[in-house]
Amino acid sequence: MPSYTANTKDMQFVLHEVLKVSEAGIPGYEEMDRDFTEAVLDAAAKVSAEVLAPLNVVGDTEGCVLENGIVRTPKGFDAAFEAMKDGGWTALDCDPEFGGQGMPYLLNCAVGEMFVSANMAFNMYQGLTHGAYSAIHAHGTDEQKAKYLPKMVSCEWTGTMNLTEPHCGTDLGMMRTKAEPQDDGSYKVTGQKIFISAGDHDLAENIIHLVLAKAPGGGEGTKGVSLFIVPKVLVNEDGSLGARNAVSVGKIEEKMGIHGNSTCVMNYDGATGWLLGDLHKGMRAMFTMMNEARLGVGLQGYAVAEAAYQNALAYAKDRLQGRAVTGVENPNGPADPLIVHPDIRRSLMDQKSFLEGARAFTFWGASLIDRAHKSGDDAAEGLISLMTPVIKGFLTDKGFETTVLAQQVYGGHGYIEEWGMSQFARDARIAMIYEGANGVQALDLVGRKLAQDGGKHVMAFFEMVKAECKAHEADERMKPFTDALKGASKQLQASAMFFMQSGMKNPNAALSGSYDFMHLMGHVCLGLMWTRMAAAAHAALDAGASDKAFYEGKIATGRYYMARQLPACAMHLARIESGADPVMALSVDQF
Ligand SMILES: Cc1cc2nc3c(=O)[nH]c(=O)nc-3n(C[C@H](O)[C@H](O)[C@H](O)COP(=O)(O)OP(=O)(O)OC[C@H]3O[C@@H](n4cnc5c(N)ncnc54)[C@H](O)[C@@H]3O)c2cc1C
Repeated sequence: MPSYTANTKDMQFVLHEVLKVSEAGIPGYEEMDRDFTEAVLDAAAKVSAEVLAPLNVVGDTEGCVLENGIVRTPKGFDAAFEAMKDGGWTALDCDPEFGGQGMPYLLNCAVGEMFVSANMAFNMYQGLTHGAYSAIHAHGTDEQKAKYLPKMVSCEWTGTMNLTEPHCGTDLGMMRTKAEPQDDGSYKVTGQKIFISAGDHDLAENIIHLVLAKAPGGGEGTKGVSLFIVPKVLVNEDGSLGARNAVSVGKIEEKMGIHGNSTCVMNYDGATGWLLGDLHKGMRAMFTMMNEARLGVGLQGYAVAEAAYQNALAYAKDRLQGRAVTGVENPNGPADPLIVHPDIRRSLMDQKSFLEGARAFTFWGASLIDRAHKSGDDAAEGLISLMTPVIKGFLTDKGFETTVLAQQVYGGHGYIEEWGMSQFARDARIAMIYEGANGVQALDLVGRKLAQDGGKHVMAFFEMVKAECKAHEADERMKPFTDALKGASKQLQASAMFFMQSGMKNPNAALSGSYDFMHLMGHVCLGLMWTRMAAAAHAALDAGASDKAFYEGKIATGRYYMARQLPACAMHLARIESGADPVMALSVDQF
């Protein structure tokens, strides 16, 4: 059985020494001193280890079953869900007006990382609820908020997001689900949605489905789409539960991973629903939550990898195979532990350097969301909007790759279910697909985000990287960081320039390189994070920090990332500059 212990020490380092949260000037952050965040993180770490992690394998092996029209979750999920509710973990960053604790989104993300590492499938029940909560909070009427939010904040009622249909996932303009207006102001929603996470289950007495559907008069494509609140059980005026709505589960999808989360086909047969937000502006309403939702999926990408890495590290220290090439290190044993071998070190360093960079990147992104929401800071909004496809696409691709690296450390035992590494790989895979497949994230980045607001956000990012390098100019110890970062940033700028020059003439030239650009930018972002982390570690050592091993290890891990990962930027640039020809050379028949 795999184990998981939250890395609260590294989280504290990022929060207080890299982001310096209590001095960041973001409303609500003043209270985030070390003691406060330590108390919250330690409590969440305990829940992760004691309540969620022991159910991870149970969820995978038992899965969810559909019995007489009701989905049953795996054994122990109900008690764990109660524990999460009682502990207030579902309400951490929710609005106090509706029973939330009003903490920063950043802190919710730090806690969320632990919950996902411990049990990704279980955490999705509350994660989806949070997404639906945010949509109603942003777009609901006062009456809708009062009716639904308190119960969703406490997770007495959970939530879902219903976009996908059998014939349309990315291209939602082809949606067929219809909403017919009724005389009383409600709508009758009819259609089929597929792949709906947490679509039905036995953890809550009601499920508030948010459903995208076409109402009359909206025109073609996504313009005609509106968003509706469709409860599983109708809610009476006084807030009590009424009749069952015409919503049913067609089936549970059999899938590769996250077996503990029910992925459902949902049938809406003239179900009663209410418009959420403006008519025919459903896509806009859905996309208001996009930065948060996609950051949440990026976080899933590295959080599962974190759990996989922890187990791979323990295995590498324990498993005896072969002898170190430089001489025996375990003379009393029949062989040396795997960790003596350079190639195993390479793998562990790839994993560790990605994970710590990814954590810093995600926390920074979450702080930008807080800054944008709490201070109305347009620059922060523009920057996070640019970063969102990178956080989602790069971190989930690399997160999966990292999980597979961790599995590889186990050799054949990694492929055998008993060790749990196979589950991590299967669970991590979905994050590359849902919430917009990663190819579509790259398309969003190159096709929309680069040029957004005249390109000023990407220019601001380049300036930020330049300023970071300049700030450490006088410090020789920082050269391995700043030299590598400057080089990678130049390659990113050259790619953007190539898109501007060639993409105008031939859009295929830009889109043939979009995936490489997303990865190139991901590396530059992690390079920036490692530069900041290395500077913070040097500052701590200069100030006489007692935990020298931690800070020296941090600097060495960062140097590894700069030396071994950033060179990938040159390859991505070369691919981008090769343009559309190599990609589009074959006719369809030639494949
Ligand atoms: C386990 C699971 C849970 C899910 N949960 C939910 C949920 O809760 N709610 C919900 O609504 N949906 C959910 N989904 C659906 C998911 O979001 C979609 O599967 C995803 O958005 C992709 O849509 P699709 O499967 O129809 O693929 P398609 O849209 O058919 O895309 C297929 C491939 O083509 C690529 N592609 C498509 N268009 C373009 C283009 N213009 N240019 C370049 N490449 C393109 C995509 O990147 C993808 O790789 C879930 C899916 C799964 C498997």
